[in-house]
Amino acid sequence: MRGLELSCRHGRRENELLKAVKSGDLETVEALLEASPSLSERSTGYGRQSVLHLAAIHGHVEVLSTLLNRSLNSDSLNRHKQTPLMVAAMHGKISCINKLLEAGANVLMFDSLKGMTCLHYAAYYGHSHCLQAILMSAQSSPVSASWGYVRFVNVRDGRGATPLHLAARRGHDRCLRILVDNGSLVCAATARYGYPGSSPLHLAAQAGSLDCIRELLAWGADRLQRDSSGRIPYIVALKYKHGACAALLNPASAEPLVWPSPLKLISDLNQDAKALLERALKDANKEREKSILKDIAQSLPSPPPRDSDLGVSDDISEASENDLCCICFERLCSIEVRDCSHRMCARCILSLCCHNKPNPTGSRISPPICPFCRSSISGLSVAKVRVSEEHDDDIIDISSCSTKSRKSCEASSSFKGLLVMGSFPMGDQTSSGDEWMEKP
Ligand SMILES: [Zn+2]
Ligand SMILES: [Zn+2]
Repeated sequence: MRGLELSCRHGRRENELLKAVKSGDLETVEALLEASPSLSERSTGYGRQSVLHLAAIHGHVEVLSTLLNRSLNSDSLNRHKQTPLMVAAMHGKISCINKLLEAGANVLMFDSLKGMTCLHYAAYYGHSHCLQAILMSAQSSPVSASWGYVRFVNVRDGRGATPLHLAARRGHDRCLRILVDNGSLVCAATARYGYPGSSPLHLAAQAGSLDCIRELLAWGADRLQRDSSGRIPYIVALKYKHGACAALLNPASAEPLVWPSPLKLISDLNQDAKALLERALKDANKEREKSILKDIAQSLPSPPPRDSDLGVSDDISEASENDLCCICFERLCSIEVRDCSHRMCARCILSLCCHNKPNPTGSRISPPICPFCRSSISGLSVAKVRVSEEHDDDIIDISSCSTKSRKSCEASSSFKGLLVMGSFPMGDQTSSGDEWMEKP
């Protein structure tokens, strides 16, 4: 009789604990665990979610922290062999993810539903911050040492889908971006996921995600890759009636500019220079896109105009003349070449680097040549522009400049010819005025 009473009381306490964890009531959780520590072993009925799972699902990081301090297993499994890290990734609870990773949670566990990892869950549900945190942690975790980091980024689930496939299928362009930036293979084919043999580009076409298609193409995805039934992504986009996607995927339309990732100077770029070049790549591809999409524009709802499309400000009037790129005479010099210090705009340096489509074999590609001095370019950095004295904020970051000014238009064609031939040396941009024109 007394035994039954005790077990009843224990059962009641267990339910109280689960309820307190779910609602994030830290005081009650601590009091209950103080009274009987074994309560923390409790899990919910059918789903068998441990207290850690519940805290992670509901994003109660203080409760989670308290539980982890009681040395609970950070990789406990629920009914579907999902870890607390997986359910936190599913629900986008970034602070819980960070706490679990700190506690040494294993990033390379597979659930029993689809054989997915926490990275798959973050990509599928589009939680880019969680994805980033998991990748950061994986870089320094034992997984990288034993498995290899790039192999982890390209980990397959039970259907042969990588996290990149899932991000593409769900149209999560931010996650997709982070994944390709971390070495995810844009040409990987699935086994059973989606249509068998689908590439990320096939899946983005099926999802109708223009942003994902843009990203994938800019990272070298192949428009001619076929799935197991012999379909190219263009056919998939047509089948799902995604007109704009189909137009970009049509092998007959203009080739997009591809990020020159095999170049060493590109992998060595600092964050600011990289952001500038990426922006230039995006803008260049957007221009190509405009002409491709022009024909089907009438049938599509028009997107709201963005600042970048309107050519917001004419920054050139504020910058001195010699900050203008001497190759195109359209944009400001934003990139400086290491060693020779010659400057040009991000778009021009990019077209030098992207001259040839990067080859997928990863074999060495020779670095581009500086058009001013003909020395091979070994590194790039951001060029800062000094504007005239009347302005108090003397240094402006020109990464956001978009301009349509053609002040030097008359001069441009003749200079361009000379510069492309490499016979026209250009002086140091730190000198002022037109001095550079007189230098030998
Ligand atoms: Zn230029
Ligand atoms: Zn040079």
